[in-house]
Amino acid sequence: MNFTEFRFQPAIEMAIKKCGYTTPTNIQQQAMPHLLQGRDLLGLAQTGTGKTAAFVLPTLQRLTGSKAGKKIQALILTPTRELAEQVHGNIQQLAQGTRLQSCTLYGGVSKAGQIQKLRQGVDIVVACPGRLLDHLNSKTVDLLSVEVLILDEADQMCDKGFLPDIRRIVKKVPHQRQSMVFSATMPTEILCFVEEILSDPVTVKVDHEKPTATIKHALFQVAQGQKTTLLKHILKHEEMTTTLVFTRTKHKAKNLARQLQQCGFKATSLQGNLSQNQRKKAMDGFRTNTFNIMVATDIAARGIDVTGITHVVNYDIPDTVETYTHRVGRTGRAQQTGDAFTFATQDDVKMIRSVERSLGQKIPLKKAQGISMKPHKAAPAPTSAKMNEKRKNASSSSRKKQNSKPRQQRSSSFDFGLSAG
Ligand code: AMP
Repeated sequence: MNFTEFRFQPAIEMAIKKCGYTTPTNIQQQAMPHLLQGRDLLGLAQTGTGKTAAFVLPTLQRLTGSKAGKKIQALILTPTRELAEQVHGNIQQLAQGTRLQSCTLYGGVSKAGQIQKLRQGVDIVVACPGRLLDHLNSKTVDLLSVEVLILDEADQMCDKGFLPDIRRIVKKVPHQRQSMVFSATMPTEILCFVEEILSDPVTVKVDHEKPTATIKHALFQVAQGQKTTLLKHILKHEEMTTTLVFTRTKHKAKNLARQLQQCGFKATSLQGNLSQNQRKKAMDGFRTNTFNIMVATDIAARGIDVTGITHVVNYDIPDTVETYTHRVGRTGRAQQTGDAFTFATQDDVKMIRSVERSLGQKIPLKKAQGISMKPHKAAPAPTSAKMNEKRKNASSSSRKKQNSKPRQQRSSSFDFGLSAG
């Protein structure tokens, strides 16, 4: 199948070619025929499947016939600012030959610029719920002409407690419209909500539970205190062209990026303590390869879409299987291959088992070549006989020890059963 079968307007076809898309992805093949007919749709797909173009292209096709720049005709809601920017970026690429204009509305930046853009006239608004409500309350935005309503990453919206806000927003949008909801997972709460928003929807489902098959997963066994050493080592020795590293805390993300910079790596961080400007700088730098390593937290990295991420490193293991899926989904996108490395300490065994169950496969262990990692297991408490012997030998060996190198740890002793199943 190729894109010509969808009979997009020539300007849109041209943009698709410019983006380098030749074959529609699975979700695009499944969703676009229904969307082009004006049907409502529930799309179960994770990021990395090409879902954005799946909803943007039919929307552009629908709007190209209308007068551009007059009123807001399509509204796309996203859970994060980064995702809003990304969707907006995709629209700009795909709408480049049309006269359609889009803008983003989210918090953390001044409202004045957004109001000015709205006044100039936009056809498509990509917004986070909080700031959009703000604009609705101050009457700086009017949704009465919206024909297409799209909710992206609905499960994340739900996690972030946005559902009441979204209900308020939907009330301001005309009843007569085309609606789409995209979500990686479908908890019951969303299912009920979706029924309120969609009318007689088609459901399409693409790999929504497992990461894409193009991702290779691997585990590195490591002690907590040696993760940074291991990371630096593999960054040097594996062919890691563009790497996204995940840490559990903002503080760690910031410090780790700094430590990597000090060692000469081109690293940056993306975490919640950054201002909107700093985030944008970090994202742009990563996109344009000024930095080829980004250290991020889950929330900050939600929906990151940078093409060509070759490696995702779980420096800290994620809290849920879903988060694992989201994280590793940043690589192996749109039919490219990618590697997902997970640093595993003894405390992570349970989580790894859950991830493996969801993947339906064991994650192979990988050894960092040319580096010895200390065993994580606590040494057994010495017996009193051994203690005495130790004391006796202590004085004679102390001089020798001062001059000797630290003992090499055998990696074979460093195994807490991850490979055993
Ligand atoms: P998404 O799932 O929307 O985040 O898309 C993931 C990546 O796939 C983005 O970088 C898109 O530009 C890219 N993409 C979308 N559709 C296609 C396609 N048909 N062929 C190749 N790449 C695509």
